[in-house]
Amino acid sequence: MQTGRLYIVATPIGNLGDITRRAVEVLKRVDLIAAEDTRHTAGLLSHLGIDTRTLSFHEHNEQQRSQQLVDLLLAGEEIALVSDAGTPLICDPGYRIVCACRERGVEVVPLPGASAVIAALSASGLPTDRFLFEGFLPRTQEKRLKRLQQLRNFPSTLVFYESTHRILQCLQDMQAPFGEGRRVVVARELTKQFETILDLPLAQLLQTMIADTNQQRGEFVVMVAASDSTVMGEDSVERVLQALAGEVPPNQAAKIAARICNRPKRELYQLLLKMK
Ligand code: SAM
Repeated sequence: MQTGRLYIVATPIGNLGDITRRAVEVLKRVDLIAAEDTRHTAGLLSHLGIDTRTLSFHEHNEQQRSQQLVDLLLAGEEIALVSDAGTPLICDPGYRIVCACRERGVEVVPLPGASAVIAALSASGLPTDRFLFEGFLPRTQEKRLKRLQQLRNFPSTLVFYESTHRILQCLQDMQAPFGEGRRVVVARELTKQFETILDLPLAQLLQTMIADTNQQRGEFVVMVAASDSTVMGEDSVERVLQALAGEVPPNQAAKIAARICNRPKRELYQLLLKMK
């Protein structure tokens, strides 16, 4: 018997018009659709007039379901994997079953389509030749700050996913490591009715979003411009500090230097004290 194939099918991230023709054809044709949330996918399938059988496949049953689905694939069934929105495996379940298929010689076929990270980058106006996709930051503030600290001098565009619950906290936590002046682009509710793209220095962006609670609702992709402090070596940072310290009080010198060098003010203040 011929082994079946596992199709990784991207679905829309809001606008149902973004489903691809190939996705519709495959979702109709397969024996089974493994869905992150079968009720959510039922809405999409009903909109498309598709009545293929669905089975739940989410982070809590991924391991056990992967075994079960690989057995079905080996027995010749054709299966599509979908998540609630966008491309499966991109901050969504699917990694385990794809690994299991590749280990057991089952063909995995990607059906490209919407993904919030790519949609957001494509409209951000930030450099896209290189970027680091971080997905969701850690939930606890301690771990989040630690990760942001590690990324502060990363030399390419940084991309994060964020939800309505943590968007303000996330932007607030970015201020110390990235600096208030760092350019940040927030893409909200892409392809939906209230799609908004804000492109501002971090402190201003935060003020804008605090002032308008509507801007805190929905789903977000947060993109941070690459640090340019990597091109400014320690010598240059010290020269900037020295020049400023000759003109203004240390506290102010550290504040201005923080903007210029994209470094936390506190760190530059300490450096200034050491230099004296
Ligand atoms: N697999 C999806 C993809 O390919 O983009 C991502 C799933 S992840 C669980 C959900 C997160 O993706 C949201 O919290 C948000 O950060 C981002 N996202 C999804 N849809 C979005 C949209 N329409 N606009 C902005 N961000 C979105």
